[in-house]
Amino acid sequence: MSGILAVLEQRDGKLHKMALEALAAAQQFGGELGLPVFAAVLGSGVDGVAQSLAGHKLDKVHAIDHELLKDYTPDGYVAALRQLIAAHQPKYVIFPHTYQVRDFAPALATSFGRVLVSDVVGHRVDNGDLVAVRQLFQGKINADVRFVGDAPHFASIQAGAFRAEHLQAGTATVEKMTPELTASQIRTKLLELFRESSRAVDLSSAEIIVSVGRGIREAENLPVVEKLAEALGAEIAASRPICDNGWLPMERQVGSSGQTVAPKLYVAVGISGAIQHLVGMKGSKTIVAINKDPEAPIFEVADYGIVGDLFQVVPALIEELKK
Ligand SMILES: Cc1cc2nc3c(=O)[nH]c(=O)nc-3n(C[C@H](O)[C@H](O)[C@H](O)COP(=O)(O)OP(=O)(O)OC[C@H]3O[C@@H](n4cnc5c(N)ncnc54)[C@H](O)[C@@H]3O)c2cc1C
Repeated sequence: MSGILAVLEQRDGKLHKMALEALAAAQQFGGELGLPVFAAVLGSGVDGVAQSLAGHKLDKVHAIDHELLKDYTPDGYVAALRQLIAAHQPKYVIFPHTYQVRDFAPALATSFGRVLVSDVVGHRVDNGDLVAVRQLFQGKINADVRFVGDAPHFASIQAGAFRAEHLQAGTATVEKMTPELTASQIRTKLLELFRESSRAVDLSSAEIIVSVGRGIREAENLPVVEKLAEALGAEIAASRPICDNGWLPMERQVGSSGQTVAPKLYVAVGISGAIQHLVGMKGSKTIVAINKDPEAPIFEVADYGIVGDLFQVVPALIEELKK
């Protein structure tokens, strides 16, 4: 193969939103490096999702199908992908930086004696080689990372760093592969799937997010922003102090110690824009900030800024939206 292999996460035949972003990254790398691009999906009965990928500009889609891959397990995924990579020898293996990938991809890379360059936010091409860009020190520094040694090289792509809208259409063939797997290789057993709470959410797949900060003053005022979220059909998120105070659950926190999100629209309400918050949301396509301080750093990343008191601005916005 000696090209670029994008390993794409699916569940129940539906691709993870970040999988398409990783595929867009792989296509871009492939175009700039002059390398063919391949995609792979794993599971049991993945024909449908593999066919949907075949509508993109790719050299081939690998459908890795096995009854033992029906449920995700790190052992199953590592064993199956090892076989695909050993057979086709890609130069680069690209993943979306999802929770699942964080679980198995380091083990996969290590099994080849390589590292995973994780959470890549950008790239450049130098002397025909891919140089990955990743952030250090809570996003204060962007570091160039070179892949040294022999291929395969492994990298995962941060949410929102590449946009699925830039995916190039085309036609590709689907090649089915049945890896050699035995039940004894898989040391974990999946129990029942559950959500931590009924409100738990994977913010990384939300299209619109209304995020609230300390400008809201107290928990009793939260309905102000919850109504805005409802009017926009948005998920609610927050800066860290809101979650630290227990006003919203921890899984709603955006930032370096919370989730990284990249929705189409991110509305930051009463959030100052500390670097630890910005690293979690600056990949959003359109950012709207509402803050009474015109010097608030959030305005540096905002596409639209409203300087004003949120307790006046937000109800006025809701009224307009209802019209
Ligand atoms: C190791 C570490 C990890 C961290 N991880 C995260 C993280 O993951 N996510 C995160 O968010 N933070 C994180 N932080 C905290 C971060 O540094 C900031 O303290 C935090 O983001 C500030 O939250 P805030 O913007 O809601 O509050 P503040 O900084 O207090 O800002 C409140 C804003 O609201 C505005 N405001 C006040 N009243 C109104 C009003 N009536 N109308 C309109 N605007 C108003 C103010 O002008 C101000 O800009 C972390 C910090 C550390 C040290």
